[in-house]
Amino acid sequence: MAHESFLAQVDLMFEKAAAHTKHPVGLLSQIKICNSVYHMTFPLKRDDGAIDTIQAYRAEHSHHKLPVKGGIRYASAVNEDEVMALASLMTYKCAIVNVPFGGAKGGVKIDRRKYSEAEIERVTRRYTYELIRKNFIGPGVDVPAPDYGTGPREMAWILDTYNTISSDTLDALACVTGKPVGQGGVRGRTEATGRGVFFGIREACSYADDMAALGLRPGLGDKTVVVQGLGNVGYHAAKFMQEGGATIVALAEYEGAIHNPEGLDVEAVVAHRRATGSILDFPGAQNLERSADALELPCDILIPAALEGQITSDNALCIQAKIIGEAANGPVTAAADAILLEKNVLIIPDVYLNAGGVTVSYFEWLRNLSHVRFGRMSRRFEQSINEKLMRAVEQVTGKRFAPEMFEEVAHGADEVDLVNSGLEETMIDAYGEIRELRKRHGVDLRTAAFINAIDKVAVSYLEMGIFP
Ligand code: NAD
Repeated sequence: MAHESFLAQVDLMFEKAAAHTKHPVGLLSQIKICNSVYHMTFPLKRDDGAIDTIQAYRAEHSHHKLPVKGGIRYASAVNEDEVMALASLMTYKCAIVNVPFGGAKGGVKIDRRKYSEAEIERVTRRYTYELIRKNFIGPGVDVPAPDYGTGPREMAWILDTYNTISSDTLDALACVTGKPVGQGGVRGRTEATGRGVFFGIREACSYADDMAALGLRPGLGDKTVVVQGLGNVGYHAAKFMQEGGATIVALAEYEGAIHNPEGLDVEAVVAHRRATGSILDFPGAQNLERSADALELPCDILIPAALEGQITSDNALCIQAKIIGEAANGPVTAAADAILLEKNVLIIPDVYLNAGGVTVSYFEWLRNLSHVRFGRMSRRFEQSINEKLMRAVEQVTGKRFAPEMFEEVAHGADEVDLVNSGLEETMIDAYGEIRELRKRHGVDLRTAAFINAIDKVAVSYLEMGIFP
């Protein structure tokens, strides 16, 4: 089982959930299958004049809703199986958080540490050009976003290339999300996945009966946390967990891990890494040279936020955490999943937990299509109503609010407030849905999340009248 491919593992999880539904076999196989995959190769002229051949992919898993949506990953392990697995997770993820997109994923097989910025730009522009040629990108077709190894800068290059070639001038901004704010991005997108991970874990920890079943108390205040991967998702998840009251006892990166049972300050660790090039030797912490050892440390919550396949049948029995929050995609293999469930570990699955990124990408896409910043029409109006209300309270009570309190309560919602509150609402609602299905079917949270997704995608197909 440990050697099943990533796609085979996702499909196993799908099958496990499908057994709890009553949909016809043909419909289930249509939902499961990947609709289209584009495998491209193109030359890259290196800065020294040498030529590399680059392998890249875009998989569109399900067209039951358009556009399809999913990040682009730059990593040396990228392959067709992985891209298809990640695209299928995107379909289920969008359904779980009620984002009206099909799933997709892109990948470029490249170790970005070995390439200059100019080379990465050439790769990104050429990749975009290939997507445009084959109609694998467009605001109503397929909308990429950042993933492992990519960020706002790559998204800006994608937009610029799309703008240069495409005749779509009005809605072109919506061809990609995760852009810099000055290029049509939405405030709050960069930290959205990590913030969503925090909202999801906080919600899971708020149920006293679920926590009691793990021997824990509700709330984050007394929880110890280990985070693997201090990139976009891991850094923000760790930061929000710390701000939410939890104690970060270990952080793991590819160069090693650091451990301090008294707690690590995430910002200070990041500053230390920036200054020294490594998280190791952080004052007051103990170094773990084998980074993966951090996964096996005693803690309440383990957050793998690096890559897939980190917890396997080899180390699952050594995991001491009572809760695993899957911030990365596919960090727990199917075989490890079975072992951990047997050990009564609560696994908050990736298909739900890291959906904050696509949720806020959806908000960005809406903003781009509507050509207006969220809050622009209502902020002043809301503020004047709030001010009038507070003045009225002051008159009635004869007391005055402190200026900071007045400011905090009266201010109208601006874009980042609306984005964060939309994200919070989404994560809380979706958790409620999967928790309810978990109880109803007597299954684990992952199976419940897949049942939820399968049912929603099935409804789309049934409404199209394709299946009887
Ligand atoms: P990133 O490139 O910003 O960060 C990943 C970090 O993990 C890097 O700092 C890297 O050095 C570290 N890392 C790699 N291998 C490691 C190992 N074996 N041990 C410890 N650290 C390791 O990538 P990201 O965007 O944060 O993505 C991380 C995961 O989250 C991926 O699985 C990705 O698919 C998933 N994800 C990302 C988003 C998003 O919005 N970026 C959304 C949903 C899911």
